[in-house]
Amino acid sequence: MRRVYKEQLSLIEEAIRRWRSIYYRERSATTVKGRRRLDRLSKEYVYGAVRPFFESLSSDDVRYIRTHRMIVFGMMEHSPSLKAVVLKASGKKLAKLLLKEGIVRSLDDLPVVFVAQRIGLLDIVDESLDIMRVNIYECMSCFGMRPVGTPMCDFEAGVIEGIMEGLYGRNATIERNCWGLGNHFCGFEVHFR
Ligand SMILES: [Zn+2]
Repeated sequence: MRRVYKEQLSLIEEAIRRWRSIYYRERSATTVKGRRRLDRLSKEYVYGAVRPFFESLSSDDVRYIRTHRMIVFGMMEHSPSLKAVVLKASGKKLAKLLLKEGIVRSLDDLPVVFVAQRIGLLDIVDESLDIMRVNIYECMSCFGMRPVGTPMCDFEAGVIEGIMEGLYGRNATIERNCWGLGNHFCGFEVHFR
């Protein structure tokens, strides 16, 4: 399976380039013109949006996304604070597994692995000694959703935090930009300690 996705690397890079131009535009804008904010997560969230890149890989992508989002939606209704803690911990567990199985050996593996896991298109936009900025486009947890005033991607933050911990050491990964906040990409800051 890994080899198949390696062959798709140029398609992944092309999709990332397209999304990156949207990220650059949005980053330099003073305000993001988005859709009207909802007071709380609605059912619309679960129906999901068609993710252009992932739909091109598999026409039933939206149904898998629906399954994942139903879990997020259910947890959010039950307890938003619990949802954030549990999903982040779950993401870290996936990261540990990917490292243990040797699926992730370096940063270079991440874009292909994130597509294989259907999480989203991962783009490392800034690397420095104590902070790294990582974007996700077409994210499974938030792509296409209406803003709700809060970042949504605790699971994804957990995966990134866990992988960076395994590769480089302890860090705190925080989601700064998200469709849930009205952006058109997810932006994570990885703060190393
Ligand atoms: Zn997000």
